Amino acid sequence: MPQETFVRVAIDRPLDRLFDYRCPPELRPLPGQRVRLPFGRTDTVGVVMESVETPAVASSRIRALGALIDPDPVLTAPLLELLRFTARYYHHPLGEVVLNALPPALRRGAPLPDPRVPESLWRADIDADQPRRIGPRQQATIDALREARAPLTRDALNDLTGLGLRRAELERMAARGLLAAEPAASGTPEPSEDGGPAVPLTPEQRDAIAEIIGQTGRPTVFLLDGVTGSGKTEVYLEAAARSLARGGQVLILIPEIALTPQLIQRVSRRFPGQVAALHSGLAAGERLRAWDDARRGERPLLLGTRSALFTPLPRLGLIIVDEEHDPAYKQQDGLHYHARDLAILRGHIESLPVVLGSATPTLETLEKARSGRYRHLRLGTRPDGSRPPAVNCLDTRVHATDEGLSAPMLDAMRRTLAQGRQCFILLNRRGFARVLTCDHCGWVADCPRCDAHLTVHASIRRSICHLCGFTQPLTESCPQCGQPLRHLGVGTQRLERALSRHFPDTPLMRLDRDSIRRRGALERSLETIRAMDAGIVVGTQILAKGHDFPRVGLVGIIDVDQGLFSSDLRAAEQTLQLVLQAAGRAGRAGDPGEVLIQTGHPEHPLMRALRAGDYAAMVGPLLDERRHSGMPPYGYLALVRVDGPGPEATQRQAEEMARELRRHAREVRVLGPAPAPRHRVNRRYREQILLASSRRATLHHTLGETRRHWEEHPPPRNLRISIDVDPITL
Ligand code: ADP
Ligand code: ZN
Ligand code: ZN
Repeated sequence: MPQETFVRVAIDRPLDRLFDYRCPPELRPLPGQRVRLPFGRTDTVGVVMESVETPAVASSRIRALGALIDPDPVLTAPLLELLRFTARYYHHPLGEVVLNALPPALRRGAPLPDPRVPESLWRADIDADQPRRIGPRQQATIDALREARAPLTRDALNDLTGLGLRRAELERMAARGLLAAEPAASGTPEPSEDGGPAVPLTPEQRDAIAEIIGQTGRPTVFLLDGVTGSGKTEVYLEAAARSLARGGQVLILIPEIALTPQLIQRVSRRFPGQVAALHSGLAAGERLRAWDDARRGERPLLLGTRSALFTPLPRLGLIIVDEEHDPAYKQQDGLHYHARDLAILRGHIESLPVVLGSATPTLETLEKARSGRYRHLRLGTRPDGSRPPAVNCLDTRVHATDEGLSAPMLDAMRRTLAQGRQCFILLNRRGFARVLTCDHCGWVADCPRCDAHLTVHASIRRSICHLCGFTQPLTESCPQCGQPLRHLGVGTQRLERALSRHFPDTPLMRLDRDSIRRRGALERSLETIRAMDAGIVVGTQILAKGHDFPRVGLVGIIDVDQGLFSSDLRAAEQTLQLVLQAAGRAGRAGDPGEVLIQTGHPEHPLMRALRAGDYAAMVGPLLDERRHSGMPPYGYLALVRVDGPGPEATQRQAEEMARELRRHAREVRVLGPAPAPRHRVNRRYREQILLASSRRATLHHTLGETRRHWEEHPPPRNLRISIDVDPITL
């Protein structure tokens, strides 16, 4: 009789353990392979992690695997290692971490896509002069395609229309001459023109690329440090080209794909047919196909947002993390991972170079570059010879503002417009007004579920909570005393209205999360901005992202003061980053342009540093402060959060957790519990405990012991406990 074999399997359950199963003689699953198995009273999907000789369960009670789902492993061995580390480091159940690495359809047991059946892209294709009968479903399909102004996959079409169109139905419409189909690319619009040869590189760029490629096969981390427009992207692309030419795969991580459509276009033009793109804007089927194309190496360059990091890439040779300072790399719920940090770890596991690029690197990254743990590559000059813009402050104590705008700001805008250039006005608050209030009795429109004011959205005549989404119709008069209400504070919509009064004949656009909600809206806005001459764009931090606009003469920043005095650990750093990233939009085509910041505190050290214009010099004092207080990068932090439906029970649970943490703490400071900065969100109360240590290991020990305790003594079901290792907001 052949020897019995057993495997240890990861399952999508919030339990910190794996499960052992017996393999029937005909099944020999390998690590990384998906299997079906009985679990409790149901059937579920698991991923094999390893074979074991002796199962952890008595062999009489052990159950047998059901079936293999795929003929081969879908996850590679190095990726499994990365996932094991991720689960340990972030104190998250391994099964959830592993299953989470798969696209949702595969997690549920769907088959891999058949690479021989290409996905189609559909577009409307009707002659106007040929009237015919068109049913309502067909009409809705055609309207959606026309509105999208780009061919769509069936999945994307169904996302837009909610019609649940089947392929056969679309094919019938094509046969009637209503639609046309073309083969789809992999989550990426295929460019019509060829990218052509790359630009001649500057010596600095050539050196940077040579260094990176020289480390092929070694786990070297680079900081590619250069102001906006210094040619970092060109370095990524050329390094990627060389890595691809050697037969390797390349992973480029970007913070938010939806906000940077120009970058996708630039990459896919440079590497036609080789790019797979993975991001949350894709329909489920598109996502699965892009993932699988990357996994099979069909498309060797994967461009994606943070979760793309977990894609199996068997020949991976290079990882690039663009805008490494962007907080979007940190997942804020569930598994609280940081994609940049895990990218570096993946580089170690798979022995390959990792490039972190930014004009405004995080203090963590800069520290490591300064201490020599990362290689510091600098791009000092812009290839087009332009210089970064001068930064000046407008003192709002001297120059009063009306609806957010001071007279000198308006003057500077007039000058800029007169030169035929554009003004970018940045205000990091969307909506119309910050709050609706009654001067008579002091009533304020608050969210009934959160500790937050409702934001006024005048255009749709509603008040909205930006934390939980609660909305209600806008009222004109106070519900308490009946007096007329007043709009307090300025949001982008109000600023837009004010600007249209000051500049009635100038093209004016608004760019924020509300204005780009519709699919394709951001692309259209960006095109309009690039095409217009003199004009004004008002928007939130979306304006500061890596868009490339040739005619920006003035960047006006309306309100930074809250960032100067926030208690958040990273507020100062992030304010600097935002201002400098926004400043980077100015003066790209040979003319330096100007940055004007309205502030009531021009003498604040951060403001003085901004005027001096040197990011490296600005962060020096911030690093000193962190060193003195033992904060990252000189110390390690974790947050334990407890949230529940009632304030007392939540607080009691948090206190018990804190006691437990203190019991296990060795060289770890345990602070709290204290109410989270937003104590109540969406009717749940939140307490948090901060752990700080000068050594990573002790922090993890304390967390691990405490976690064991709470798994043995689980809290009531309606209370949630979560751990955030290396939190970025406190
Ligand atoms: P970054 O990513 O640092 O903002 P980019 O790589 O996007 O910089 O370069 C900024 C602009 O300069 C782009 O329009 C790019 O095409 C151009 N550029 C980059 N490198 C060169 C070069 N060596 N010669 C000429 N133009 C260049
Ligand atoms: Zn009132
Ligand atoms: Zn709310």
